[in-house]
Amino acid sequence: MIKPIAAFDRIGEENAFAVLARATELSDQGRDIINLGIGQPDFKTPDHIVEAAIKALRDGHHGYTPANGLLATREAVCRRTLSTTGVEISPDDVMIMPGGKPTMYAAIRMLGEAGADILYPDPGFPIYRSMIEHVGARPVPVPMREENGFAFSASETLSLITPETRLLILNSPANPTGGVTPKSEIDALVAGLAAHPHVAILSDEIYDVMTYDGERHTSLLGYPEIRDRLIVLNGWSKTWAMTGWRMGWSIWPESLIGSVRKLAVNCWSCVNAPSQFAGIAAIDGPQDAVDKMLEAFDRRRRLVTELLNGLPGVSCIVPKGAFYAFPNISATGWKAKPLARALLEEAGVALIGGPDFGVLGEGYVRVSCANSDENIEKAIERMGDFLENRK
Ligand code: PLP
Repeated sequence: MIKPIAAFDRIGEENAFAVLARATELSDQGRDIINLGIGQPDFKTPDHIVEAAIKALRDGHHGYTPANGLLATREAVCRRTLSTTGVEISPDDVMIMPGGKPTMYAAIRMLGEAGADILYPDPGFPIYRSMIEHVGARPVPVPMREENGFAFSASETLSLITPETRLLILNSPANPTGGVTPKSEIDALVAGLAAHPHVAILSDEIYDVMTYDGERHTSLLGYPEIRDRLIVLNGWSKTWAMTGWRMGWSIWPESLIGSVRKLAVNCWSCVNAPSQFAGIAAIDGPQDAVDKMLEAFDRRRRLVTELLNGLPGVSCIVPKGAFYAFPNISATGWKAKPLARALLEEAGVALIGGPDFGVLGEGYVRVSCANSDENIEKAIERMGDFLENRK
């Protein structure tokens, strides 16, 4: 039998997709399932963005674009970066990518190999670890602790750096915890990184606009002293509800941008042209739909935490960013994955067990706020009934 090389035994999954598949299967069988497992906004892409893609197709934009993306799309990314971070970047530093994940792959592939250590947040987005293992590097988890608001601790992160460390992956606001790392901690981290010039940084800022309670996202782009070893991952998926369009962007140092452009030429040629026109409309057009979505996520994260904190054995800190809550369920007597499974099969509530986000995720589940207030209320009521009755 033909088998893939061992690197493919070391490639993981994103369990949110498996949960979504099972939830859909159960719904198709007629079960009433409420999905709080989902990692995509429950909003439609705003109309003016859809129209821009349709117009691009009608105008005949059916062909390849440059591998790094249309200049107009990269320029739009520069305008957006200036408005959100105050930092001026060149379109030459920008790659338009088919989503956020390909930037992860490109950065980890480019810097990871046997003998290299890569630091990544745990609990964190599961693809980081999966890709690190796939390329044969050693995954070194950086603990995201509940008592620290699930934020990066500069001192703990710096203490994990060794001469073998090649890449440090940061993510704030964070999936799955909603943690936002404060500027003071990022200041300290960047100051400490001066002593480790061999370490590159991949900053996943895909949830940059999703902060609440006056909290502000701190972009790593604001630190010129690390710009020559910084990769910033961002994209359209979350902010403009465009997960299925496969549109991301990343900002690269001069020493790496040529390699990622070549990777694009080899793997996908370019992102489809109409999506790139839609991406410009998203950045330059009205932002009222984004504001509305953020208002809904803000309201729901407070609703979710208030309701979760009323359940037996559950405690949940209020997430400061993204659109997830990460309640601590260790006092329920359940392990996280069996609880998530039983809630889906028996109570019709889909959510994701914390261990799907790393070893430090045991004792937690991820609850997504990407569902209506009414469904959130109903789902958490079902969770309460389940926890009361099924000890
Ligand atoms: N980074 C983080 C932290 C995410 O949570 C996600 C998606 O859930 C991504 C990147 C990937 O985004 P995309 O769907 O654009 O590949």
